[in-house]
Amino acid sequence: MATIGIIGGGINGLFSAYYLQKAGHQVTVLDQDNLSDGCSYGNAGMIVPSHIVPLAAPGMVATGLRWMLRSDSPFYLRPRLNGPLARWAWLFFKNSTAGNVEKGVPLLRDLSLLSKQLYQDFHRKNHFDFEWQEKGLLMLYQTPGVEHEEMEGAALANQAGIEAHVLNAREVQDLNPGATVNVRGGVFFPGDAHVNPNKLMAGLKKHLVENGVIFRQNQEVKGFEIRNRRVTGVVTAQEKLVFDEIVVAAGAWSAQLTAKLGFALPLQGGKGYSFVLAGEAPRVTIPSILLEARATATPMGGALRCAGTMEIAGIDLSVNMKRVQGIVNGINRFYPDLHVKTPEKTAVWSGLRPCSPDGLPFIGRLPTLENVTLATGHGMMGLSLGAATGKLVSELVMREKVSMPVEGFTPNRF
Ligand SMILES: Cc1cc2nc3c(=O)[nH]c(=O)nc-3n(C[C@H](O)[C@H](O)[C@H](O)COP(=O)(O)OP(=O)(O)OC[C@H]3O[C@@H](n4cnc5c(N)ncnc54)[C@H](O)[C@@H]3O)c2cc1C
Repeated sequence: MATIGIIGGGINGLFSAYYLQKAGHQVTVLDQDNLSDGCSYGNAGMIVPSHIVPLAAPGMVATGLRWMLRSDSPFYLRPRLNGPLARWAWLFFKNSTAGNVEKGVPLLRDLSLLSKQLYQDFHRKNHFDFEWQEKGLLMLYQTPGVEHEEMEGAALANQAGIEAHVLNAREVQDLNPGATVNVRGGVFFPGDAHVNPNKLMAGLKKHLVENGVIFRQNQEVKGFEIRNRRVTGVVTAQEKLVFDEIVVAAGAWSAQLTAKLGFALPLQGGKGYSFVLAGEAPRVTIPSILLEARATATPMGGALRCAGTMEIAGIDLSVNMKRVQGIVNGINRFYPDLHVKTPEKTAVWSGLRPCSPDGLPFIGRLPTLENVTLATGHGMMGLSLGAATGKLVSELVMREKVSMPVEGFTPNRF
């Protein structure tokens, strides 16, 4: 039995803890927060094998630059004099190519399908209810340009073995009879699923505690002791802890930690918002992505959770109501009879997605140290990929045969 310290109790940290504990190890999860409201809680809850195209793709740079000029736009990169941001932006630009898409599609597909299968197994084990539902996903559009892009995306998905159906406006409406859907058409991905992430995180934590995983909350990891290419101590404000193996799953903060381990990880936080429309779930029964608005709507419990925006603006969780208004306007354009009102600022949740510059996660050992494994960089898909990431992390930590090749996710690829 080995002792494992996992830094970060988000979805990737908790699923790593789940598989490592099941393999018989003594696991401790450290978090600077109280595990109630981070990025893994307020997100849109979508499990998305449909998302096989990495964020860094041709056209993204031009789209991003165009959006940056509008204060209510869904994408924003706050210009700052900052070396890591400049390096990240340069790597994002360099990776927004057809070659990156070609390389990324099979990797994201296999990781996503593994994760969905592990979620299904996890659901079948019936540890607790997290509202697992396999109802698919609708990608909706209103303009011919986006329709064209999505039809290409659907063809690519079908070629890669991910079922996708192009629907006209009537067919979209028939799938969602509870509310008027104002669209030109959409692509339906029947293989996608969704969950209630708050219930998943709370249930997972309770399950881990009951099975002997130790949680040290409100303990920020501030530094490390390193000897002979090994981390020999994890230092928090309160104490120094010793583990055989360390997993860094610290979300958008991971680069700050790897810097202390002597490794410059290109990673930026991508801020997004969500808010809840109580009682509206029966009207929108299939999760949807409203493409031109870059907003999402997911039925969760009895409510509809709306989410959106991507602001690359550092470690900053403040809420910009102009961008929240952009999400509200987007939902009202696509679902006109929901009549969504602007939420109070205090009712808006914000979270930081850990974004890599090529749109692929970092899952692998740090090249400079022998006992540190990294699990971050999942961007918009961290929840979806969490189960597979946890499984792969446990195999990497134990130096076992991995469930799928992980070379493409190596932290050392830039
Ligand atoms: C609006 C929005 C909608 C989204 N929708 C979806 C979706 O539908 N599907 C999907 O798959 N993904 C979605 N995502 C992305 C997903 O939420 C993230 O990718 C995922 O939650 C990241 O999980 P994580 O475990 O890597 O990081 P986190 O959840 O951020 O966890 C990292 C943890 O590390 C802790 N930590 C950091 N530094 C330290 C330190 N020094 N010491 C101790 N602890 C530390 C933090 O407190 C935090 O709890 C969405 C994100 C947003 C913002």
